[in-house]
Amino acid sequence: MTKPVLFDMTPATLQTWVTDMGAPKFRAAQIGEWLARGAPDFAVMKNLPTDFREKLDDMAQTLPVRVIKKLQSADGATTKFLMELHDGEQIECVLMRTSYGNSVCVSSQAGCAMGCRFCASTLLGVKRNLTANEILAQVLTAQWELRGDRGTSRPNGDPNNGDVSHIVIMGTGEPLMNTQNVIDFMERAHTTLGIGWRRITLSTCGIVPGIRDLIAWGRPINLAISLHAPTDALRSQIMPINNKYPLADVLAAADDFTALHNRQLMIEYILLGRKNQDGDTELFNATPELAESLANLLQGKNCMVNLIPWNAVDERDFAAPSGNAVHRFQDILIRHGIHTRIRRERGTDIGSACGQLRLNNAKGDKK
Ligand code: SAH
Repeated sequence: MTKPVLFDMTPATLQTWVTDMGAPKFRAAQIGEWLARGAPDFAVMKNLPTDFREKLDDMAQTLPVRVIKKLQSADGATTKFLMELHDGEQIECVLMRTSYGNSVCVSSQAGCAMGCRFCASTLLGVKRNLTANEILAQVLTAQWELRGDRGTSRPNGDPNNGDVSHIVIMGTGEPLMNTQNVIDFMERAHTTLGIGWRRITLSTCGIVPGIRDLIAWGRPINLAISLHAPTDALRSQIMPINNKYPLADVLAAADDFTALHNRQLMIEYILLGRKNQDGDTELFNATPELAESLANLLQGKNCMVNLIPWNAVDERDFAAPSGNAVHRFQDILIRHGIHTRIRRERGTDIGSACGQLRLNNAKGDKK
C-alpha cells in the first residue's frame, strides 16, 4: 500500500487528516511549514512529539519524491540525487553550486520519448509525466541539502550557504510534452520560493506547439533550444522529432518567444564525433563547414550558443571531438559575430552531466 503524500494535500485536507489522527489542529500548520521547507521525513520535525512523529512515519510520506541515493562530485560542487516517486518510478535531479548561485536541474518526466540518438535519458522510453509537485519537490530537496537538517539557512561563510537561486528544466524528459504541469511548477517555484522568472531556463528539443503555449503563458523565462545540427537532413538523423517540427518552424516559434520578452535565446549544440574503423574520431556535426552553416542560420538573431562537447553514454555510438575541434568550431561562430561559449560540464564523474541522466541509474553506481 502506498502511503499518502502530505505535500500533495491542501492545508484544509491536511488539517482534517491530522485531526482525524486525534492530534490538535495546530500540528497541521507545523507540519505544513516543514513540508514547505522540503523536510525529507518526519524525524526532522523536532517540534512535534516523538510518538506523534513515529505514528506519522508509519502512516504517511512527506514529499512525493524520496532520495534513494546521493552522489557527490569529487570537487564537491555537484550533487546528484536519485529519487523514487510514490509509484516506484525513478528520476534524477542535480544540484550545482556555482559562482553565480545554486542551480538545480530538474526532471520533467520519468524517462523520455523523444529518442535523440546521443542521449541516455530516452534509452528506456517515457514512463509518465511528473506532476508539478513532483518537480517542485526536487527543488525543495536540493534546498534542504543546502540548508542542512533544520531546513533553515546556514550562516554566512558556510560553503553551502544560500538557497536555490536558479532552476534549469534540463533533466530527463521533454518539458513541453508535459507543458501544463511544468508551467504550474514554474508558477509555484516563482511564488513560493521567490525564484525570479529570469532565473528559470526551460530547454526543449523543439516542440513548436509547446513553445506557443509558453508564449501564451507570457512569463519572461529563458528558453533554450536543443539544436544540435544546422540542417534538417542532419538534424533528423540524430533527433527524430525534427521530422515533425523542422528547424525553420522551431526557430520561428523561438524568435516569437524571445521577441515578446526581449530575451536572448539560448541555443544548445552538442559537438559529436564518431570513431572510424581505425579508431580515430571523425567529426559528425562539428566540422568547420557546419560551423559556417550554423553561423548563417543564426545570423542576426539575439542568441547565445552553448557548445556542449558530447558526454559519454555507453550505449551510444558517438565520441567527443578533440579540444582543438571544439575551439575551431567556436572560433568560426565568434568570427561571424555569434555569442558562443563552451559549456563547463559539471558532475561528469558522477554521471550527472548533460545527457547522462537516465531512468535506471545502474550506470551512476559504477563511479
Ligand atoms: N528534452 C529537453 C531537456 C533536456 S536538456 C531538451 O532536449 O532540450 C539536456 C540537454 O543535454 C539537451 O540539450 C540535450 O540535447 C543535451 N544532451 C543530451 N545528451 C547529451 C550528451 N550525451 N552529451 C551532452 N549533451 C547531451
